Amino acid sequence: AHLDRIAAVDGQVDAFLHVDAETTLAQARTVDERRAAGEELGPLAGVPIAHKDVFTTTDMPTTAGSKILEGWRPPYDATVTRRLREAGLVILGKTNMDEFAMGSSTENSAFKTTRNPWDLARIPGGSSGGSSAAVAAYEAPLSTGTDTGGSIRQPAAVTGIVGTKPTYGGSSRYGIIAFASSLDTPGPFARNVLDAALLHEAFSGHDVMDSTSIDRPVPSVVEAARSGDVDGLRVGVVKEFAGDGYEPGVSARFAEAVELLESLGAKVVEVSCPHFAYALPAYYLIAPSEASSNLARFDAMRYGLRVGDDGTRSAEEVMALTRAEGFGPEVKRRIMLGTYALSSGYYDAYYGKAQQVRTLVKRDFDAAFEQVDVLVSPTTPTTAFPIGERADDPMAMYLADLCTIPANLTGNAAISVPCGLADGLPVGLQVMAPVLGDDRVYRVGAAVER
Ligand code: GLN
Repeated sequence: AHLDRIAAVDGQVDAFLHVDAETTLAQARTVDERRAAGEELGPLAGVPIAHKDVFTTTDMPTTAGSKILEGWRPPYDATVTRRLREAGLVILGKTNMDEFAMGSSTENSAFKTTRNPWDLARIPGGSSGGSSAAVAAYEAPLSTGTDTGGSIRQPAAVTGIVGTKPTYGGSSRYGIIAFASSLDTPGPFARNVLDAALLHEAFSGHDVMDSTSIDRPVPSVVEAARSGDVDGLRVGVVKEFAGDGYEPGVSARFAEAVELLESLGAKVVEVSCPHFAYALPAYYLIAPSEASSNLARFDAMRYGLRVGDDGTRSAEEVMALTRAEGFGPEVKRRIMLGTYALSSGYYDAYYGKAQQVRTLVKRDFDAAFEQVDVLVSPTTPTTAFPIGERADDPMAMYLADLCTIPANLTGNAAISVPCGLADGLPVGLQVMAPVLGDDRVYRVGAAVER
């Protein structure tokens, strides 16, 4: 049914970069055989899923939305891919994304722009916009994404679905094409909080293949999502995430969600996080710095594209030609920014300063979580914007992640859940919890989701 739905609507939505019905159906048959052989499979066995094209998959290509990886077939599965295969989920295909996960609209994909199913003239968010659109358009019941600065929560918010950024280290990065390694976090998309929790639980947990993976028991997010009990819970409203830049409809839906929490017995207080205002600029030094280093591996020798290798050119020339042709403008911008920020003489002034800001943001969170159990804010300042509106204005594009970036800098758990419509377009509520407090974001999400 999902393959039929994809065939019917993906010509308009453009959520998928790769769909392969034969491979999908072969996977489904394997699940049937495992079941027939008496294997105990989890609650999601047989459920189809779409993976963001940044998760390596042995039976489907993986491009990270970039020409430089066009046609590349990974020799191994990401841990998330592998665990979900073992749990019996069936892969429908790979979804579109901003190149190397750099963006907020999927307009930076080297292949195509995905459209928001609510209004095909608008963006589905990004960078995981193919995954959000696929779930919102009922092409897939579940999908995966990665969130480095908001790339799960922002697309979830603007397409009216649920998206979680788990605690950093709670879900494995192994086999995910790296953007900014100290921030990248894989997480789930679904149309309701319980489905997201089931998916979250199916792929998370300690992984020896990821050196930053956390080896500690965590409370069940599925139980928290089933409960939705917020009676007596202390909820902090982040004072700094309100005001002028927020669309009136977004502010109105947010205020209603807070009232709803209060009516369910939560104690709501205003909390100040004064350094959150500096999180966005710090992110745009740290993320490009790590990206410039991570993307050095695309050297025309190891993977994908190779340009100008005709026997007359040096390896350096082939490398330069390949990178010039293979990377898009936003990726080049980030490599230049990052290389500059890391260069000797500027390192302390930019990268070092940004890391200090990161510590200050963490102190804000620590102080806040002494007073409250969770923090809430709108997920994004605006609803889905029209395709093209911010394409030539990186600064305007970067503002889409104003509210989501603090949790990336500190590794905290956060979720976006739908909290109503503004002018016919979805609005998201963000819930943030302490590190390893993922259960709390599901508990609150389940209480307020619409
Ligand atoms: N939009 C942000 C950026 O462009 C965040 C991307 C992400 O979370 N992958 O970097």
